[in-house]
Amino acid sequence: MRYVSTRGGEDSLSFEQAVLTGLAPNGGLYIPHTVPTLPPNWDSLWASYSFQDLSHAILSLYIPESEISSTDLRDLVNKSYATFRHPEVAPLNPIKDKEFVLELWHGPTFAFKDVALQFLGNLFEFFLQRKNEGKSGSYRETLTVLGATSGDTGSAAIYGLRSKADVDIFILHPKNRVSPIQEAQMTTITDSNVHNIAVKATFDDCQDIVKSLFADKAFNEKYHLGAVNSINWARILAQMVYYFLAYFHVKKQLEKIDSDATIQFVVPTGNFGDVLAGWYAKRMGLPAERLVVATNSNDILARFWASGRYEKPPASTSTVTGGVLETLSPAMDILVSSNFERLLWYLAYDSLAGSLSSDDGERRRVACKTVKGWMDNVKADGRAVVSEEVLALARKDFVAEKVDDAQTIETIQAYYKAENGFSDASYIADPHTAVGLTAARRLAGNNPPSVQQVILSTAHPAKFSEAVTRALAPLSASFNFEREVMPEEFQGLLQKERKVIDIEKPEVGLVKDAIVKALVASGKVFSEASGV
Ligand SMILES: *Cc1c(COP(=O)(O)O)cnc(C)c1O
Repeated sequence: MRYVSTRGGEDSLSFEQAVLTGLAPNGGLYIPHTVPTLPPNWDSLWASYSFQDLSHAILSLYIPESEISSTDLRDLVNKSYATFRHPEVAPLNPIKDKEFVLELWHGPTFAFKDVALQFLGNLFEFFLQRKNEGKSGSYRETLTVLGATSGDTGSAAIYGLRSKADVDIFILHPKNRVSPIQEAQMTTITDSNVHNIAVKATFDDCQDIVKSLFADKAFNEKYHLGAVNSINWARILAQMVYYFLAYFHVKKQLEKIDSDATIQFVVPTGNFGDVLAGWYAKRMGLPAERLVVATNSNDILARFWASGRYEKPPASTSTVTGGVLETLSPAMDILVSSNFERLLWYLAYDSLAGSLSSDDGERRRVACKTVKGWMDNVKADGRAVVSEEVLALARKDFVAEKVDDAQTIETIQAYYKAENGFSDASYIADPHTAVGLTAARRLAGNNPPSVQQVILSTAHPAKFSEAVTRALAPLSASFNFEREVMPEEFQGLLQKERKVIDIEKPEVGLVKDAIVKALVASGKVFSEASGV
């Protein structure tokens, strides 16, 4: 299996190269040359597999044994999911008739990003160890992972990479603009290779600084920058697994009731990574209804499925400069969805089935050119418009729903009250999960009776105290966030010792100096004068 860029050009890459490179030099994203199909007997063979077994089976289809041996892959997978608190890793919780919540937040930082980032951290370590075998001192290759976060990605990446040999991680966050729990989750990690940088600025400023450092060729080459953002192929790959796990668990739970059941996955989405992983699972052959893309008011995806226009919102409609709206589900507050480009490639490729089916090489070249054209348009004019045919293909596999903050609050309340006669169970949903639950309910009425909904739950509610308290405090005078929502792991977190580098102004030079200084202090770089 080789990897190619959505915008064409260059030769194909190995899995290792695709993971370590992140973004292609021409701005494209890496995709597998072909989407593998499932082994013929997968449905019976995999039926009783654990999360780890499934992960090994699925990842093996995308990672050649010549790159990572089967035994090494198994070790990587086992190590990555040993940090999860739940034995099933991603348990399926039946909360109503025909409604299941797939809980993806039982990892170290209580958000779904752990599923991918625990694995990516171990993968980075594995590749570096291999390169560094028998080398010592300054001959060892090191990796400087750099990222900006508005909350979830930062802590999940830090937990994925803490204490790994030959890797340092620098995470920029906007000072006092991430939730107190999220800030504490990041800054209370005191491992010597973990560096939090709090910048007195906005998240967008932090992201701009990170982008300029990646674009700084001399700096990048000297410090071997690595990216952990959601365009990294390994993250998408790791996330395919729980769609299969959920499929088998739903089947098991329904065995005696309804053998014709089909699954409708409902996915709260921002950068289109999580739901794209589900689409790959479906394309590989996992039986599923159209995937539901659930967005908050940052609805570029919902607008695409309504109109065929992939278009940034006009800047004037926003409350914040740049056009991103601040919502109660901040991990989905995006302007454009970076992984969407991957789907666009397949739409372009599939739309050429009639005209170019006999010349696959040419068909791929045209698909890459089409994608490049669309992305150039987004960059230049803020929008790309696809043909009716491409839109029809997109609608064959997805439906999209937009959910605003008021509906998010109502849904958190409704599930807490456990209304609609479903037993006496009460469920406290985080605001991202509530976006998914709302979309699911809207669609449920039109579903045939055999359809079972699986809503992906992307965070533990304790991470988003503002939304949860705003929803639940008015319902009951005795509602107590600490007692009813906070897991014991969070108790005392806010009081723990912190390690953080403060930067007073959003200036690239200041961040660069701080990074070099920290690397020198950790012995990874020998002197500041060796110069960039
Ligand atoms: C990152 C994140 C999302 C969005 O995931 P994408 O892959 O960007 O679509 C949803 N919910 C939570 C809690 C997240 O952290």
